[in-house]
Amino acid sequence: MSESFDVVVIGAGPAGYPAAIRAGQNKLKVACVDEWKNADGAYAFGGTCLNAGCIPSKALLESSELYQRAKQEFAIHGIKIGDVKLDLAAMQKRRASIVKSMTGGIAALFKANGVTGIQGHGRLLPGNKVLVTGADGAERTLQAKHVVLASGSAPIRLDAMPHDGKFIVDSWNALEFDAVPARLGVIGAGVIGLELGSVWRRLGSEVTVLEAMPELLPMADQAIAKEAQRHFKKQGLELKLGAKVACAAVVGGAVEVIYSDAQGEHKLEVDKLVVAVGRRPYTQNLLAEGTAVVLDQRGFIQVDEHCRTAAADVWAVGDVVRGPMLAHKGKEEGLMAADLIAGRYGEVNYKTIPSVIYTQPEIAWVGQTEEQVKASGRAYKTGVFPFAASGRARAMEAAHGMAKIVSAADDDEILGVHVIGPMAGELIGEAVLAMEYSASTEDIQRTIHAHPTLSEAIHEAALAVDKKAIDAVNR
Ligand code: FAD
Ligand code: NAD
Repeated sequence: MSESFDVVVIGAGPAGYPAAIRAGQNKLKVACVDEWKNADGAYAFGGTCLNAGCIPSKALLESSELYQRAKQEFAIHGIKIGDVKLDLAAMQKRRASIVKSMTGGIAALFKANGVTGIQGHGRLLPGNKVLVTGADGAERTLQAKHVVLASGSAPIRLDAMPHDGKFIVDSWNALEFDAVPARLGVIGAGVIGLELGSVWRRLGSEVTVLEAMPELLPMADQAIAKEAQRHFKKQGLELKLGAKVACAAVVGGAVEVIYSDAQGEHKLEVDKLVVAVGRRPYTQNLLAEGTAVVLDQRGFIQVDEHCRTAAADVWAVGDVVRGPMLAHKGKEEGLMAADLIAGRYGEVNYKTIPSVIYTQPEIAWVGQTEEQVKASGRAYKTGVFPFAASGRARAMEAAHGMAKIVSAADDDEILGVHVIGPMAGELIGEAVLAMEYSASTEDIQRTIHAHPTLSEAIHEAALAVDKKAIDAVNR
């Protein structure tokens, strides 16, 4: 006999678990099925984000930054400390304990919101049934009025650089190294390459990042990308742009990487190689024959703007559908689907999804880059404020980078906000809210920002749009 639910969610990552919780809040009978297992063999909710992505990477970014600041910056503050030593085992233990408490928290949230959490593999059958296979192979069938597919993504693997989890590794392996590799190679200067490259550089690795594209961060505003490149170079992160990797192989306990650039073919030898060339939608064994769910050419589940698939009452959200592979984008889609299922209002504004890269300096943006606005043909104005002129940034010994606003020349609407500097990921929240309300730069100009705060950089950048900056020279 099958158990009946209003909603069954497959996947408890940042797209699936919020969908399940919101369905519970909407008084629907809901189950959420997830198959994630960590290295210890135990099931854990939270998906890539909590177990092997956002959270463990940020834990290590924070620890490694503190380590580096203790070594390089404390003396500038007049703090004398002895020899700073790395205890990587303790750092990794902290990372693991943060993951454990966060993933355990989801089980508690499920309970509080009336969600039935089920650990095992879920497979959509025709007629909106979900076949669940537990760890012991036992099967149960759930009958659902609505199914939400939130099966996420997995790292792209390349045959020419075969993953072995020890020498040629993915981002998850690279978060769990138990020793600092002397020489670390990273393929791909995307978000993962830059964040994980930064972690291990700070902890002492010699890091070489090979990037096929001729420019760093082509999706970012190029003024910001150039500033980032300057800082990464100063930090000793060896960035090789226009470097296409052909293959890699383990030879005598090291990894030999063959790549080519404008100068020809080269060989790089490293102790470990992280392959971070993007992620692919994950739908392995998810869809039985005859479900009517359609995949596109790249393997993403096809959905409309409300995340409805081609199958009646089957929805799909998060990394497994089009759009940026970001936890907060998946979360909003999950909430939208759960609200629409309950007959409530739901919408995602895809134009105001912020991006954050948690390097040092931090990089964050929302909306269009100056290059995109220029290409659109719309007349625009820009305002830039350097953190060198921010009292708070100076007090923090973090007076690097800038805040930049691009707005329309005709009606002053904010079209994009770009920040590289201290706490950029926190600062961008104000810009997202402003753009969500179609604010003009004048709205930000007339908004009081506390002094001395980093947020004044956004205020001053807005003033600079009209050549009215007070704390920096208007250009
Ligand atoms: P996932 O998190 O991948 O979750 C899907 C879940 O579904 C998994 O638990 C999986 O086991 C389960 N599943 C799949 N198929 C089945 C099935 N058939 N039955 C049962 N369960 C199934 N994004 C950010 O926004 N900010 C960051 O700082 C950030 N940092 C990242 C760092 C790294 C190293 C990585 C790899 C990613 C990072 N991301 C970050 C991206 C972010 O992790 C993803 O965008 C996000 O996890 C996608 O959420 P999701 O719920 O769609 O999928
Ligand atoms: P990515 O798409 O951001 O970057 C991959 C890079 O690899 C690209 O720049 C690409 O040009 C390069 N590349 C591909 N093949 C190559 C080759 N053969 N040789 C050299 N370079 C090559 O992918 P990622 O860094 O793997 O991240 C995956 C996803 O995870 C992203 O979509 C990102 O949104 C998400 N993520 C987000 C955060 C965050 O929000 N802070 C952090 C980590 C990951």
